[in-house]
Order: sequence, then structure tokens, then C-alpha cells
Amino acid sequence: MTGAARALARCDELGRISARQDALERTHLSPEHAAADAVVAGWMREAGLTTHLDPAGNRIGRREGARPSLPALVLGSHLDTVPDAGRYDGMLGVVLAIEVADRLRHESLPFAIEVVGFTDEEGTRFGDALFGSRAFAGGLEPGRLDASDAEGVTVRAALEAFGLDPGRVGEAARRPEELVGYLEVHIEQGPELLDAGRPLAVVSSIAAARRFDLEVTGRAAHAGGAPYARRRDALVGAAEIVVAVERIAKATGTVATVGRIRAEPGGVNVVPGRALLSLDVRAERDEGRDEAVGRIDAAAREICAARHLGWHLEERYRADAVVCDPALTAAVAAGVAAATGQEPPRLFSRAGHDGMAVAAVTGIGMLFVRCGNDGVSHSPDETVDEGDVGLALDAFEAAVRRLAAERG
Ligand SMILES: [Zn+2]
Repeated sequence: MTGAARALARCDELGRISARQDALERTHLSPEHAAADAVVAGWMREAGLTTHLDPAGNRIGRREGARPSLPALVLGSHLDTVPDAGRYDGMLGVVLAIEVADRLRHESLPFAIEVVGFTDEEGTRFGDALFGSRAFAGGLEPGRLDASDAEGVTVRAALEAFGLDPGRVGEAARRPEELVGYLEVHIEQGPELLDAGRPLAVVSSIAAARRFDLEVTGRAAHAGGAPYARRRDALVGAAEIVVAVERIAKATGTVATVGRIRAEPGGVNVVPGRALLSLDVRAERDEGRDEAVGRIDAAAREICAARHLGWHLEERYRADAVVCDPALTAAVAAGVAAATGQEPPRLFSRAGHDGMAVAAVTGIGMLFVRCGNDGVSHSPDETVDEGDVGLALDAFEAAVRRLAAERG
């Protein structure tokens, strides 16, 4: 069996460890988390790694380098899932990291290798993402242990039930001097590689994002009695703004989405007096994101002024771009070029990943693998091609070897 075939068989096996009969769902500190963890620990041992569960619930396997206690190059991804998940989001990155460790088991490297299966990247159970990787990077927010799931079970209680000590979660934190960097393989979760006819991409950054609540205010009026010249229809203004958002996003190379819209008072025979919208903007870099937001704000002001409407924009969330480390990214690009014979395309990740948290403690590099099936992800319809996975494995191994040669 090739490494790629074994990796895919392992994704199938993990895909069967689920809280539901009819779908894949495996959340933080659940019985399924424990079952998957035990299976992954066994694969790590087979690959010659010594392994332990860290105090946050991350599974870590390690092999020393040429000397004991050298800093570690960390390879990994996450083992938890969204509800009704696919088998490759996260898991593919963990099983490929184990394959790379297996391939390098007889090499004397100038760094230790650590493979990490992070827990709770998705935040499915407790509502907030990146628990495992934030703990690993020493950036876990103080209130996180008090969050509770739909049944009212707190993270603290769930850690105890899992056999972990909530008082020691902070000990999962790693120091920068213990680490060389972090490399992750992940499915693209979009169709760009599919459309480009390319199997792999190097990730330039994990997207900068901002989210807003938008409010357009006009005047409610009778749908029959109010003539157009006198109307101040908030929803028609909002509709123009939605179209402007799409136009500006395309013009600035960003992605912006109005995902929610509500008209008030919401009567079928009432001209809407108020419209409430959400806005999500994502971009490769902070500057591009902020330029798009500025242009959307200016366009909305103009639209509202022309229609005698009020306009208000309130920020709800902001995350700056996490830019991948140049040296790690160069190693990944060289690995892809060696495996495929072509310079890889560069993509920025529109989705969040563990690397966003890990970047607080060490540099990150990422490799994307083409998704089949129209690029669909967070769905049981996720697919990858075995040939692509084989190339990803070769590229991942070559990237690690290149970093070893650079430091050796
Ligand atoms: Zn993921």
C-alpha cells in the first residue's frame, strides 16, 4: 500500500468514529474524541514516535533529532469536526504528518519532529474555535474554561470527565525556543485549484477578516398610499448596498458577503422603515481588507444620501491576516516544485486554521490540496484525489528535508 492509500484509508477509519450513526460529528472532549485519539496514538507509535496527550487534549508524537532535546519542527492539523462533516478537513493533515514522520524515521535530522493532532479547531461543541492550538501557543483566553455546551457542561467539567486537569491546561503552552516552525497540509475548501487544474498550492496567508452590523434607516409607510417620490424605503437602499458590496469585493480582490438581512417592521403592506444587514469581509492582507471596507462604507453613504436614508456601520469582529513565514513557505514551494515539476500557485486561505493560533509562538507554513466535487467542504461530500494526496505527501516530505538541509 502506498503512503497516500494508507493515509486515505486512515481518513476513512477516523470518519467512522462519530457521535452520530448517519453522519460524522466528533467534538472536543467527547467519547469519540477519546476513541479517535487512541487510534491516532497507535499510528504515531507505529511511525516510531513517542506520544502523549497534552494538558489541553492535543495528541502529540515526537521523535528526537540528531541529539536529544533539539527544537521541534511541528507537523499537524486537527482531529475534531463540524457537524455532518467530511473525512478530510483536518484529518488529512494529521495522517499525512504521520506518513512524513514514518518516511523520515531513519534520518538524523537537525531538529526533532513533532506530529500534532489538535483538538477543537472548529469550536463545534463549545462555540469558540482553536482551543487546542491556542493552548499550544500559550494564548488561550482566560474565560474559555467556563464556556458551556448545549447541555450546560462546561469546558472545565468536560476536561475532568476526559481525565485531564483543568488547572493544568496552561502547561500545554510551548515556548518559541522549543520550536523550529509549524507546517500543515489541509484541503483547500474551495474550487480554485480545481478550476486551475493544479493539485497543490502554497498558502500565502490566512485571511484578514472584519465583520459588521449595518443599519439603513428610512421611514415606514403605507405600501399603497406612499408615492415613490416621498418614500424613504430602507430595504431598497439596502438592496443597492448588497450589490455594491459584491462589485467592490470583485474590484479589490477580496471576498465580501452580506449573509443576513432583515426588514422592519416586516409587514407585506408596509414600506420598510429600517433594514439590518451583516457584512463579512475577508482579504489576503489587512490593507486590502480595510480598503474594501472603506469603499463599501463610502458607496453605502452615497446610496443612502441619494435616497434620504440614514446609514450606520458597527464593527463586531476583527482578525488581522496571519502571514505565512517566508522561509517555511519557500521550503513548501520547493517541495511542491520537486513533487510536481511545477512552481505552485499561491493562494490565501479564506478559512481559519490552527496556524492562526500557532503563529503566536512559531512561524507557520501551509500546503493546500485540491478538493474534488466542486471544492465542497464542511460536508460529507468532501473528496480528494489519491494522486493529489500522493503528491502532497511527496511535497511535504521534500519541504521537511529542505528545511533539514538548510539547518544541517
Ligand atoms: Zn480544518
